[in-house]
Amino acid sequence: MQRILERGEIESLDHTTIPRLRLPPADGVFGARAARLRKLAAGEVLGTPVSPELSGYLDLMAELVDAQDAVFESLTDADAELPDQNALDRARQYAMPPLPVTRERPAIWPTIFDRLLTFLVPTAAERPQLVPVLAALHALDKNALNALADDVLAQRTETLDAAQAPFVAAALQVLWTHRASKLLLKDVPVLEAATLCPVCGSHPVASVVRIGGQSQGYRYLHCELCASEWHMVRVKCSYCEKNANIAYQGVDNRSDEEIAASDSDANSAAKPLSNKLNKANDPQKVIRAETCDDCHNYRKIVNQEHDYEVEPLADDLASLTLDVLVTEAGYTRASMNPLLWFSAAE
Ligand SMILES: [Zn+2]
Ligand SMILES: [Zn+2]
Repeated sequence: MQRILERGEIESLDHTTIPRLRLPPADGVFGARAARLRKLAAGEVLGTPVSPELSGYLDLMAELVDAQDAVFESLTDADAELPDQNALDRARQYAMPPLPVTRERPAIWPTIFDRLLTFLVPTAAERPQLVPVLAALHALDKNALNALADDVLAQRTETLDAAQAPFVAAALQVLWTHRASKLLLKDVPVLEAATLCPVCGSHPVASVVRIGGQSQGYRYLHCELCASEWHMVRVKCSYCEKNANIAYQGVDNRSDEEIAASDSDANSAAKPLSNKLNKANDPQKVIRAETCDDCHNYRKIVNQEHDYEVEPLADDLASLTLDVLVTEAGYTRASMNPLLWFSAAE
């Protein structure tokens, strides 16, 4: 005999419920990120052309991410210094991130930084220009290191050394990704500001359309610091949250001949950007810029439906050509990438 479902049972049977948050996995995100950086550096990702200079930089960053992975593996549960359950409950009650970056760093922080520099010794041996950078970082005392970490988190580019900043940012990523991976989903609230990471309060580096399981086809914003991913509906500005004037821009990698052949219809001549930028429905949808004509900002979106191995931070870093084109078209980059810094003078 069949019975009628109780209230609440129906919701639990609803397999279309959107997972609102994807915490970083227990083994971190750095192994996959390093592999993706190497693939991008080798020019093996269609849709993301890479210059020789950028390729060299991506290879160096792949070694830095390898070092992050090694440090991540060395950490214990206790190193995470998660807040106690009362503090977690309070944060959830007030819709505050449970691990805010503004709070004091756990005791393991300087050790993480030291370990990262140690794992980079072989990298520096093959890159002499790196030796003075790492030596200067190694010489920092605890106070100077904390001041530098504060500058990196506040993105004070006017005082930061662009060569040093990626290494400090990388160490902070290890610490916060480790802590985030130890949280339970139930301890993370929904924030009022949908554009900030609900775990640590940082900004997203890019967004990603995921496939597989319950996340199928949903778009997530990827935290620049702790690698948590939180859901935001597609076709919505991840900066001002408006949705009326969103467009997608990609790099067109076709040859001049291919472009000429497809542009032979009269209409395309009226679109000055059509040779370099394509609106939606372009086959090259692995990475695109989501532009907003309300706030004139853009943030990149990678799509796992078009390349299973996309990694938001790595793909963002490697697609500087897209940044140039979209910036020339009048949009401002909403994200920073923790692995690439520019000095204020540049
Ligand atoms: Zn975060
Ligand atoms: Zn906007």
